[in-house]
Amino acid sequence: MINIQNYINGKFINSINNEVIENYNPATGEEIATIPRSSPKDIQNAVNACEKAKLSWSKLSISERSKWLDKIANELEKRFEDVSKLESIDTGKPISLARTVDATRSVSNFRFFANLAKNMKEKQFEMNDAMNNVINKPVGIAGLITPWNLPLYLLSWKVAPALVMGNCIIAKPSELTPMTANLLAEIIDDVGLPKGVFNLVHGYGNECGQAVVEHPEINLISFTGGTETGKIVAKTAAPMFKKISLELGGKNATIILKDTDIKSNIKNIAKSAFLNQGQVCLCGSRILVHESIYSSFLEELLKYVSTMKIGDPLNEDTQLGSLISCEHREKVESYIKLAIEEGGEVVLGGERPKLNEKFANGAFLEPTVIIGLNHNSRTATEEIFGPVVTIHKFNEIDDAINIANCTKYGLAASIWTQDTNLGESIAERLDTGMVWINCWLHRDLRVPFGGVKSSGLGREGGLYSLQFFSELQNICTMDNTN
Ligand code: NDP
Repeated sequence: MINIQNYINGKFINSINNEVIENYNPATGEEIATIPRSSPKDIQNAVNACEKAKLSWSKLSISERSKWLDKIANELEKRFEDVSKLESIDTGKPISLARTVDATRSVSNFRFFANLAKNMKEKQFEMNDAMNNVINKPVGIAGLITPWNLPLYLLSWKVAPALVMGNCIIAKPSELTPMTANLLAEIIDDVGLPKGVFNLVHGYGNECGQAVVEHPEINLISFTGGTETGKIVAKTAAPMFKKISLELGGKNATIILKDTDIKSNIKNIAKSAFLNQGQVCLCGSRILVHESIYSSFLEELLKYVSTMKIGDPLNEDTQLGSLISCEHREKVESYIKLAIEEGGEVVLGGERPKLNEKFANGAFLEPTVIIGLNHNSRTATEEIFGPVVTIHKFNEIDDAINIANCTKYGLAASIWTQDTNLGESIAERLDTGMVWINCWLHRDLRVPFGGVKSSGLGREGGLYSLQFFSELQNICTMDNTN
């Protein structure tokens, strides 16, 4: 049981009102921590800390700031096992996943941006009589708001580029998953980052998160979360002309063409549907299968998914842990009920698994496969964000593209085929920010990440992040000497 505190101006402190929020392990229902229930006054304190720190931080060179990122990465790497365990306990995800995805990426995010920024070339445009130098200046104070599904992975994805480009930070993690953000604050404190450069404030989204978005001195908001919350964030930030990046929800299609080698790809296709219990914004929660291979595909999918081990997240063999909370499980279950009302058939899962007593209050749900739904149904077009996948048949490629594009979301898709030229031509016709062909979540940190339509606004990743976390200034100089 940990009493987590805010980290403001280089000090761990309670919220001003001294109120706390309980934090639970969703796999067991045990209380594992309390966090401060911060209010706008705490945000004001964090802003004051940033104001004091920002001039000297912004004056450091990018290579000096990169060294700080490397120091953070080195310490994070030393605490790799702590990060993995805390993430598993806090989210209910399997420890193996916390190691391979969350802990690994958190370290590489810091290293990657340290290296990228150091080697970034600023642009010059020469004229007959003058030279234009385009420089990247810090934006000022960055508000970073992150969700619960990949807590430190997503936080570090924002913290690293924001810091290296010379901004001061106020981070607000999900109140459901504060543990690894707190660990990051401890590491930042241990390495001695100048006080006030990184501030961490815990609390409810509609109180503390809203106060971050509303604060006029916070110049930039990088938000990852649900589409409905994204709308509130956009509406609040727009009149202040804040720089804003919104990474929102998805309802991603997995398109299986008729030449797909099902047996050799089924594991990866199932992974794309069920990784992190389906709680990844990129999960392929609608599988569109060519009708000529529909039956054999379904058979292989059910065979594979029914072998997936569900249970204790800290067990090395577990493939599916618990959902983030019992409330979230109820939301997911309401979609399974809706699917039946909409004419769907649950051909696998749909129930709470029978686990031992320790996990009786855990938010577990079996991986669920639903067939027979209209591709326009609510179940097939709304984001469920759980271990639920719907399967749909198509005949013509145009039909697959229309089905894939028929949701309000536009985050990602995957296409499975032996004909990669055909795959690429289909990819270009999908209304999404990202498409994988014969793979999924295969990430190169240099490429743009983000969605279109209701999946968000803007791109992060590689140089796109460095641009977002900085302001461009053009300086045109004419030589005045004779
Ligand atoms: P939410 O939108 O509920 O919350 C995201 C963050 O916003 C949390 O820190 C939350 O705080 C905070 N928040 C809530 N209300 C406000 C507000 N009014 N102003 C400012 N901040 C606020 O999302 P979830 O945490 O439920 O995450 C799941 C969602 O995130 C899914 O829709 C998923 O698709 C999306 N997501 C998108 C990704 C992408 O890259 N496109 C990646 C990962 C997830 P609190 O939790 O304390 O309420």
